[in-house]
Amino acid sequence: MKVAILGCGQLARMMAQAAAKLDVECIFVALNEEGTASVDGLGKVVGWSAGDDTQKLFAALDHPALITVEREAIDVTLLRELQSFCPVVPSPESILVGQNRSRERALLQALDIPCAPHRVATNTTEVRAAVSALGLPLVVKACESGYDGKLQWRFHSAADVDRFCDEQERGQWLIEKFVDFEREVSIVGVRSSTGDFLAYPLTENHHRDGILLASIAPAPRASAQLQSAAADYIRTIMEHLDYVGVMAVEFFVVPQGLLVNELAPRVHNSGHWTMREDMTSQFENHVRAILGMPLGETRLHHHAGMMNILGSTDGLESNEPPDPKVHLHLYNKAPAPLRKIGHLNVSASSESELLVSLGELHKRLYGGSAEADGFPAVVKSEPGE
Ligand code: ADP
Ligand code: MG
Repeated sequence: MKVAILGCGQLARMMAQAAAKLDVECIFVALNEEGTASVDGLGKVVGWSAGDDTQKLFAALDHPALITVEREAIDVTLLRELQSFCPVVPSPESILVGQNRSRERALLQALDIPCAPHRVATNTTEVRAAVSALGLPLVVKACESGYDGKLQWRFHSAADVDRFCDEQERGQWLIEKFVDFEREVSIVGVRSSTGDFLAYPLTENHHRDGILLASIAPAPRASAQLQSAAADYIRTIMEHLDYVGVMAVEFFVVPQGLLVNELAPRVHNSGHWTMREDMTSQFENHVRAILGMPLGETRLHHHAGMMNILGSTDGLESNEPPDPKVHLHLYNKAPAPLRKIGHLNVSASSESELLVSLGELHKRLYGGSAEADGFPAVVKSEPGE
């Protein structure tokens, strides 16, 4: 069995590693001359750039059973053309929604799923009208192509609005009320081609400069109600789209419950902690789902965490014996400032043990205290926790 993956980054790498365990071979498409180091040695790589012939591309893929993606920023015309040769999962229509924040918001509103008050603007007159209607402070995001906090602006004052309007002329922006959230959480769900659905535990996420730094699962202090609300929302979205594969939804926790921030029609960084021996990872479940295999275990019986390695592995060298509860995953990428070059997965039998472990890794990689990056304070373990 062979699957083609569009994209050659770390998500394609981890998908292919999981696929190999299921005896599924992967072949990769390098889009627009992207780097391919992360998938070195994992399978054949075929290049494709805008304007290239799709039929030739498909012929070079050696008849895959289906095609999947590691990212949403892929030309939908390419996806639709490939659909005439073999199934593309998730569907191009699902990927199209995840490519554009305005379409995401329209879908959420149609499904009655809460998100922050917002407007969409395509020129500076509409930007100013949105500012008047919503009031400051606001977060402005380009509807397309933003990631890791890029292509975003904050409006705190009229001067911020003027500066933005002087610098920008036309575009498509989501203008959204600044949410004074308690914390950020996400959920990863998986839906198979047979309609089976499972969700992983709600995960708490911490960012630095708009980039995910660490995840904690299950999210501390998350009530069963919060977990089931998140699972209901993602399930509703996936069923509505007849979605196949793994999807992630990011939320803000506010006193009223959850507000959706973003959808990701793919495996997600906040699900990397699922690469554990005692459950099925998001990568394996994605492969299982798209091939119609039974889905694997998504329940977590311990406490799990993930710390991204941004920039370089400096700080990780140690003379101490390796900690069996910490697993290093590197992506074979060259070090570069703030680049995600790997992650550490941490296992613990209690939340406080997990937070201590993550705090130590944070200190070694980034110096300073994890609490300065917004991590929950470590509270002493309760007996029997
Ligand atoms: P990206 O695609 O870059 O991850 P997000 O929409 O998730 O884009 O925004 C990145 C981060 O910016 C979020 O994780 C959150 O910390 C912050 N953010 C985004 N929207 C808002 C908002 N409306 N109010 C407050 N903070 C926000
Ligand atoms: Mg985000």
